[in-house]
Amino acid sequence: MDFYSGHIQTLIEELGKLPGIGARSAQRLAFHIINMPEQGVERLAQAMVDAKKNVRYCKRCWTLTDDELCPICSSSSRDESTIMVVENSRDLAAYEKTGEYRGLYHVLHGAISPALGIGPGDIRLKELMGRLAAEPVKEVIVATNSSLEGETTAMYISKLVKPTGIKVSRIASGVPVGGDLEYIDEVTLLRALEGRTEL
Ligand code: ZN
Repeated sequence: MDFYSGHIQTLIEELGKLPGIGARSAQRLAFHIINMPEQGVERLAQAMVDAKKNVRYCKRCWTLTDDELCPICSSSSRDESTIMVVENSRDLAAYEKTGEYRGLYHVLHGAISPALGIGPGDIRLKELMGRLAAEPVKEVIVATNSSLEGETTAMYISKLVKPTGIKVSRIASGVPVGGDLEYIDEVTLLRALEGRTEL
């Protein structure tokens, strides 16, 4: 089975562990890397190591960031009375790209999924409730995906937040069912935000 040198084989195996990279893609990427100029390979490897070493969670909204507070949380021009709850940092990036949303975010890092054994304690809900008690929040916009897990999470959040008297709303269902927010175009995202309804 030794078609390739040990080093290439190791590289193929490591690349093959990445999500969405099958055996063929792993081979293609490995040979691409072998043919790259050495400096380019070093930059790529360094970028991976640096990101892993230096990226951490924002202590306020839990998105991935380089500092204690992310640029959104530390900006003085954001509307602190609104928090949009998203499943991950990629969804946050999708809404930021629209350039229209001026509030803050809260990143759950997942969604409730009884089937996968992910309960409310496994996502950043406690941290969200802590913020609602400490920050001048008037509205929580739940922008979890429209998958079963996303909807379950939205209902759960609504039940938690309502007793606090803070308004809870859900983005409109213009977002295709099961659609990951990050793949949806900006116009659809904005429509979903504008058409949000109170839970
Ligand atoms: Zn933040």
